[in-house]
Amino acid sequence: MATSIIIKLIEIFQKLPGIGPRQARRFVYALVDENPKIIEEFSDVLSRLSKEVSHCSVCFRIFEGKSEVCNICADKSRDNSKLLILEKDADLENLEKNKIFDGKYYVLGGLLSPLRPEKQDKLRFRELFKKVESSKEINEIIIGLSSTTEGDMTVRYIEKIIEPILAKRKLKISRLGRGLSTGTELEYSDRDTLKHAFENRK
Ligand SMILES: [Zn+2]
Repeated sequence: MATSIIIKLIEIFQKLPGIGPRQARRFVYALVDENPKIIEEFSDVLSRLSKEVSHCSVCFRIFEGKSEVCNICADKSRDNSKLLILEKDADLENLEKNKIFDGKYYVLGGLLSPLRPEKQDKLRFRELFKKVESSKEINEIIIGLSSTTEGDMTVRYIEKIIEPILAKRKLKISRLGRGLSTGTELEYSDRDTLKHAFENRK
């Protein structure tokens, strides 16, 4: 038997972060209750999303455009010697909005979790190793992951990955200062907190 269209849409909404089955159900009913124009607009925007938005092939951030490389990676005025590793796009967006960092970014796509070891395959560790190993310009890696159990676990894993590269050449590795208190995410921090975290990186 075919799955009902309502159930199908509920299942899709439930895949989004922080959305449970009850909320997902409310979204679906609200959409149907809305003016039919909204549904049309919604489906139009969604179909454009897959065509007009993609991951940058260099830093893996999500950006709008048809090119392979995003505007930040293509920007020649930025400092190629510094690479900032972030968990997610929202962190990058907040840093860019506050004009805190002038180097290059790398979006890992999540954090390791002791409870969900299968997540490891989804994170871009292999690409990170390749990028750092093959780059002649990077001389500092800044880790901007949150100070949680998952964040710490991920940092240790990154250090393990980078180790063989460190044996071959000098590379400074720093982590953003604890101005970002435990669990506080880059996504929500204000300019002063971010600045403080960069100045106190070690
Ligand atoms: Zn990029």
